[in-house]
Amino acid sequence: MIKISPIPNYDCEVLIIGAGPGGSALAGRLAQNGICTILIESQEFPRDKVCGDFVGPVAIAELQKLGIAGLEDFPKANRINEASVFLDGEEIINQAIPRLEGIPYYGRVIPRITLDHWIFEYAQKKGAITKEKTRLKNYTVYPDKVVAEISQNGKSKTIIAKMIIGADGSSSTVARIFHGQKPSDFDRILAVRAYYEGIEGPQDRCDLFFTEESFPGYYWLFPTGNGNANIGVGMVLKTLPQNDTHLKELLTALIQKDKSLSARVGNGQIKGKIQGWPLATYNAKKKIIGNRLLLLGDAAGLINSLNGEGIQYALLSARWAADTIISSVQNDDFSTVSLTSYKKKIEEELAYDLTLSNMIIQCIRNRKLNPFWMELLSIMVSRARIDKSYAEIAGGILAGMQPANKAVHPAFITKTLVQGAMHFGVKGAKEVLKGPEHWMSTGKSTVAHVKEIIKEAKENPKEYKEWLQGLTTNGIKISDHIWKDIKKQYINTK
Ligand SMILES: Cc1cc2nc3c(=O)[nH]c(=O)nc-3n(C[C@H](O)[C@H](O)[C@H](O)COP(=O)(O)OP(=O)(O)OC[C@H]3O[C@@H](n4cnc5c(N)ncnc54)[C@H](O)[C@@H]3O)c2cc1C
Repeated sequence: MIKISPIPNYDCEVLIIGAGPGGSALAGRLAQNGICTILIESQEFPRDKVCGDFVGPVAIAELQKLGIAGLEDFPKANRINEASVFLDGEEIINQAIPRLEGIPYYGRVIPRITLDHWIFEYAQKKGAITKEKTRLKNYTVYPDKVVAEISQNGKSKTIIAKMIIGADGSSSTVARIFHGQKPSDFDRILAVRAYYEGIEGPQDRCDLFFTEESFPGYYWLFPTGNGNANIGVGMVLKTLPQNDTHLKELLTALIQKDKSLSARVGNGQIKGKIQGWPLATYNAKKKIIGNRLLLLGDAAGLINSLNGEGIQYALLSARWAADTIISSVQNDDFSTVSLTSYKKKIEEELAYDLTLSNMIIQCIRNRKLNPFWMELLSIMVSRARIDKSYAEIAGGILAGMQPANKAVHPAFITKTLVQGAMHFGVKGAKEVLKGPEHWMSTGKSTVAHVKEIIKEAKENPKEYKEWLQGLTTNGIKISDHIWKDIKKQYINTK
């Protein structure tokens, strides 16, 4: 461990709020570089966190870099070699975790009570000062310091630091004070999960399920090993029209009704309670850096809204934040400008994909369009059945093993369109053979859905305006990225 010297007039150089994967990984990295770091956490370890517990290949690669994958107990965590995607009870895609260069070709399901404790202990071993049962209440950024008001075991105290990091999750206090507001309900997903014992089926396979009933949402079964599994469901908070389904009841109903999920649960029994937690999705308009302040992980909205995955982004953003902060400490410059390299890295590496996932979610948020999305999914499924590389991309995106931007690749779009033309072509031809009164039947249902949406929009103009605005802002950002890609690939190289 490196010896860290105290700094006059400050309690530390960097104060990190929240000891989840992001906060603890950053604390360890900074302390290892001789930076005086205090990490505060409102709870006490080992502590649980509501999650699906799936640690994907990218996250595993980050844990390898931190040395956590080398811990004696790490290989005992349940290893995942393949994933299946089910639509309306039918398995539509089953594939091995792809072999991509530089990252492992497997994932693990690690209950957060274990994973987060390992990362917290890593921060301590590297020399970070940790304070559990300590909650951030408020903070003020001054030109030369940040003063944080904390409550430790019920007593109020202050901590003076050179900069503050918001690693305090999806309901981040640091972000709320910085942005002057809580995340909008449009940027929220709500998810619940429970542990089951005595489940059937392969222990090394993660399952993701979609049905019209759970749309716009998904549910999952991730085996934790020895016949146990984490089962949950997630859905965007703000649906159009409003969705009154209670997620806990929906999860219980899905386990009984979905034939593929109920087959895996078999005679399995729930252990403990169904618990819920909100997720905050990426919003490119929200700042993630300011003077003497930086947000990472869930506090920065770094969540893939398509599958709710966020551990990998918490760990990646912690590594990129460490690179930037180390140079800020060396130059004694904590201004927004000095932290810009972190923001740029997030934009280069993640913003495109997270915005694209958000746009897909923004589209499917409108439940009146459910039949259309189900039709599109079934078109994609028919293609996936006959085209292995297409199946890998489609399944990979849904299961979070491939970036969403692969879906905007011209080859992928063309194949979807060709499949769609075949799908409607056969259907259309059958309608024509039935006679003129049936000719418009496919079109009729689409027109009926659009009419319903217009009617709803008239009744709830504010909500529908927000929905359309969300679609267009995300759309503009994506076209910007696509244009940059085209320039990089075809123009700059010539
Ligand atoms: C139901 C559900 C299922 C999910 N499934 C998966 C999955 O399978 N795979 C995946 O990769 N991701 C999943 N996610 C997302 C994942 O849980 C998060 O992306 C991840 O936890 C982010 O890590 P973090 O370090 O940014 O924040 P967190 O893990 O949320 O850690 C934040 C920490 O800050 C502490 N804190 C909060 N406020 C304060 C305060 N004021 N003062 C001091 N401490 C504070 C909290 O106690 C907490 O320990 C899921 C999320 C949910 C809700």
